[in-house]
Amino acid sequence: MRNYLIIGNWKLNGTKEIINNRALMLRSKINNTINCDVAVAPPLPYLHLTQHYLKDTNIALCAQNIDIHTSGAYTGDISPKMLKDIGAKYSIIGHSERRLYHKENNELIAEKFAVLKKSGLIPVLCIGESEEERRSGQTQKICINQIDAIINKVGITAFQNSVIAYEPIWAIGTGKAALPSQAQKIHEFIRSYINEYDSESAKQVIIQYGGSVNIDNAAALFNQPDVDGALIGSASLNPDIFSILVKIALERKK
Ligand code: PEP
Repeated sequence: MRNYLIIGNWKLNGTKEIINNRALMLRSKINNTINCDVAVAPPLPYLHLTQHYLKDTNIALCAQNIDIHTSGAYTGDISPKMLKDIGAKYSIIGHSERRLYHKENNELIAEKFAVLKKSGLIPVLCIGESEEERRSGQTQKICINQIDAIINKVGITAFQNSVIAYEPIWAIGTGKAALPSQAQKIHEFIRSYINEYDSESAKQVIIQYGGSVNIDNAAALFNQPDVDGALIGSASLNPDIFSILVKIALERKK
């Protein structure tokens, strides 16, 4: 039985004041989260501050990225072990913005997945195709390559207690979300691909959808049997909207 999982990815947005206010508003608006897990991913310098404001709530902390080293002479790296130490529960890895702007490849992302599991954090592995890849019919192939890198590095059962966020690049920040039927088709494909290796992992893995989720399309997306919630960018910056999105998931209950 899988819960919905709603994560707000705040990306590189906010100031101390904005983050304080946002976290306090979320604290007051989101309290009952039975059957729906909720997390927010603030920019790294505000992670601790956000944790302070969300203390003793059901809203978990998510990092936006990690590096592969946990300690030592690695100036500037982000240690998953330290994130765990300050109370983080999840970390996004392989977001298309990191693949694009930081040239992260599937092998590096698989190493990040491995170190997250080892450190006791839950990976939120972003996968998905570009517009051009979609048009040329390569969606499934791209997703398989991104998933195979993980299977080859850590084995299929690592997907138990892990999250995949299917985020078609053409839908991120564009206002053009995938149709619910399109999202279901690829989510079902991802789950059945994992099922070919291990049925328990296929049953357990949370597959979120990400890309222009908003209050108009969330209900129809969440109604799809293989859509287990969402990774939400822009709409998560507004606590009123984010809390409505959580409510939409709560009303559905898996
Ligand atoms: C994202 O960047 O993970 C994302 C889903 O963004 P948006 O909701 O703004 O499309």
